[in-house]
Amino acid sequence: MIEDSLGKALLSTESIRRKVREIGAKISRDYAGKEPVLVGVLNGALVFMADLMREIDLPLEAYMMAASSYDGYESTGTVDIVKPLNASITARDVILVEDIVDTGITLACLLESLQAEKPASLEVCALLDKKSCRQVEVPIKYIGFEIPDEFVVGYGLDYNQQYRNLPYVASMNAAVANGTR
Ligand code: 5GP
Repeated sequence: MIEDSLGKALLSTESIRRKVREIGAKISRDYAGKEPVLVGVLNGALVFMADLMREIDLPLEAYMMAASSYDGYESTGTVDIVKPLNASITARDVILVEDIVDTGITLACLLESLQAEKPASLEVCALLDKKSCRQVEVPIKYIGFEIPDEFVVGYGLDYNQQYRNLPYVASMNAAVANGTR
């Protein structure tokens, strides 16, 4: 079982489902009459994006782009856009969908690159926010959960490419500390 090396869920499947539904309803209200463009950030936001877009009751477009900033646990402090957005977002209402915001460096870089395309509006929706780790101020309009400074996995988030398929979010630290990983 993939759960065996992890501690108990930090966020249960049910609480995530409820929160995603709530955010989807809020976006549906806020963007009523518009056709937003959702831009998900691979690979971490894959699961969140897939669930969130089905909770938004509006016509929308959805794309994915990829940025790379982490190797295992540690932030490298540099961000590469390894898969650019292959779509025009000029004059469109764009929502950038992130799995987690930690230092804010990745998000700041992505926002700068999207802003250069002159969207009509650009907002951020992040499932998880490690606010206490912030190094760069970034505006996040829709936040799922504020979490403590712990390395988390599951619901799209990985540790060395593992655990993305875990249906809930768990802290990785305990498993590493007690040698089960
Ligand atoms: P930031 O640039 O804000 O420091 O980092 C953002 C990216 O780092 C996220 O998109 C995610 O890929 C990765 N990251 C930050 N914290 C965690 C964490 O606790 N768990 C996992 N799996 N990835 C994280």
